[in-house]
Amino acid sequence: MRFIHETLPQRVVFAPGAAPAAVAAEVAALKATQVMLVAAPAVAALADRLAADLPVAVRHHEVVMHVPVDVAERARKAATKGAVDALVCVGGGSTTGLAKAVALTTGLPIVAVPTTYAGSEATNVWGLTEGEVKTTGVDPRVLPRSIVYDASLLTGLPVEMSVASGLNALAHCVDSMWGPRADPIDRALAFEGIRALSEGLAAVTADPTGPEGREQTLYGAYLAAVAFASAGSGLHHRICHVLGGMFDLPHAQTHAVVLPHVLAFNAPAVPETERRIAEAFGSPTAVAGLTALRGTLHAPRALRDYGMPKDGIARAVAPVLAAVPAGNPTAVTEENLTALLRAAWEGSDPV
Ligand code: NAD
Repeated sequence: MRFIHETLPQRVVFAPGAAPAAVAAEVAALKATQVMLVAAPAVAALADRLAADLPVAVRHHEVVMHVPVDVAERARKAATKGAVDALVCVGGGSTTGLAKAVALTTGLPIVAVPTTYAGSEATNVWGLTEGEVKTTGVDPRVLPRSIVYDASLLTGLPVEMSVASGLNALAHCVDSMWGPRADPIDRALAFEGIRALSEGLAAVTADPTGPEGREQTLYGAYLAAVAFASAGSGLHHRICHVLGGMFDLPHAQTHAVVLPHVLAFNAPAVPETERRIAEAFGSPTAVAGLTALRGTLHAPRALRDYGMPKDGIARAVAPVLAAVPAGNPTAVTEENLTALLRAAWEGSDPV
């Protein structure tokens, strides 16, 4: 066994029901006295609960998915004008992404308080969008110094969004099996992530107001993001990135639809990995495990339901082929990729 694994430097605090005190402690540890609190209007009430215990100098509400550059610029100006010395972001991947955009140019430390299962808080990846072009990059300045997970903050996340976002996290686990830098440590984290996410998401849908499902799912989402940050984007993420950019599809739902098709495509070529994914699902095969979970969750099924046009299948083939990572377990051809995209578009069973 020969490999190099890089562990990212970050504190992670699991504090169910206790975010205000936990976030205040992380901010105090940074010796910050002028905080910019970033939160979209949809979670303003959650941010209010945290603000009471923090030295807030600026509240910033303008959050847009995929972080358009003008939105990032306005947030950076607000941080500079308020002479802030730390950022606290409360929200999903879009909010964390905005805080990262500010950290990228200012070097300000971030305390991230996630309210979805997107996992951006545990990666050093930033993303910015100009027009229709999304650019991503890796920079140590954007990795939040601390994460505070409090499952009670996710009580108001609608079940449908919880399912899509949780399957987005599951996609991080699955792609960590064969991402370009995937190593045995990533896989170990990802197998445990699959177990926690499949148990957690089933519990969230069975009892949306109960805390246990959300706690398990947050734990799984964190493991998923740590594995993914190390392994890098595999075939699944390359496909979703192309489709999301070309057809302006919603992030979490796109991942939720595409995932079973990529799993069915790659798993047969890596039997030992397949066996361990199946074990993590508690199922005879990996695909059967994911299919059963998706059935329980009433998961999103077809890309056509989210606005992808039918002629998009043919249009997406060349850009996906150009982005396929070297070393993908199954060789990707125009023919098998077209079949995969067609199945995801129409919502048929994975081939
Ligand atoms: P999101 O942050 O846009 O949130 C989706 C919706 O849910 C929003 O309307 C939001 O206001 C609402 N919401 C969030 N939390 C809520 C709560 N607790 N209660 C009620 N409503 C709530 O979507 P997302 O899927 O979390 O994040 C997607 C973005 O994150 C994309 O831009 C994606 O590229 C990025 N992302 C980045 C990374 C990375 O490593 N850089 C990883 C994953 C995702």
